[in-house]
Amino acid sequence: MLVKGASVLKAAKKGKYAVGAFNINDLEMLKAVTVACVEEKAPVIIQTTEKAIKYAGIDYLVGMTRVAATEDIPMALHFDHGKDLNLMKQCIKKGYTSVMFDGSKLPFKKNIAQTKKVVAMAKGKASVEAELGVIFGKEDSVSASKGLYTDPKMAKEFVKKTKIDSLAVAIGTKHGLSKKEIALGKKKGHLKLRFDILKEIHEDVNVPLVLHGGSDVPHSDIKKCIKLGICKVNIDTDLRVAFTDFVKKFSKEHPDVYDPREFLGPTVHAMKNVVKIKVREFGATQKA
Ligand SMILES: [Zn+2]
Repeated sequence: MLVKGASVLKAAKKGKYAVGAFNINDLEMLKAVTVACVEEKAPVIIQTTEKAIKYAGIDYLVGMTRVAATEDIPMALHFDHGKDLNLMKQCIKKGYTSVMFDGSKLPFKKNIAQTKKVVAMAKGKASVEAELGVIFGKEDSVSASKGLYTDPKMAKEFVKKTKIDSLAVAIGTKHGLSKKEIALGKKKGHLKLRFDILKEIHEDVNVPLVLHGGSDVPHSDIKKCIKLGICKVNIDTDLRVAFTDFVKKFSKEHPDVYDPREFLGPTVHAMKNVVKIKVREFGATQKA
């Protein structure tokens, strides 16, 4: 069933696990995530960026997710890294049950003011996530050449003043893959996470915390993050890599195949396996 983002995150906070938030752009990705989470009996957040909306169209994304949400697991539809308030308004109107306002590059006071506007706009219809600090890396329309760790004291003030449902923190994870990382086999370099900062935020802030750039973060680090209040882990790169690598390998091995279903079917299966591993690592199995 389609539920608000805050409802799955509240349950995760209480149960001390994290909900997987998977970025999708098409039917194949949505199917992979949905089937995996149904098999794992796990709650899930389906999320789309502005670029995904441009690619697939908002009505297709909402329509497909509504069908996926007829499955017997809690599912939220989330707008990831929203900057355009008009588009955010449209998402809420069309049926998104959660939105993220990304004012992380704005001055602190302006970020508070804009986030408050989004909270007022979404009231009663969708949950709101916002970000403080800057997450390093590049993914879709989000890009930062330098990361900026979240300041715990500012986080406390930010949550209190904006009344958001969840807070995205910058503790050293990164978005996407750099050219060098792609050349080295599509693995992120070793990420040094600042657990000390996360611990302080967790002590000062009462809302569920969100980890962006969760692809390639080792299981032991994910476990530590969940202990320190992370209730939502965003995964995008891992699915993109599984999708693209499978299609490339298949077309190399079967140059004569021209029916897309012959490679898209097994591609969904490859992505589904990635999702299942993640969901188990997040402790969300059997939590639906
Ligand atoms: Zn992100």
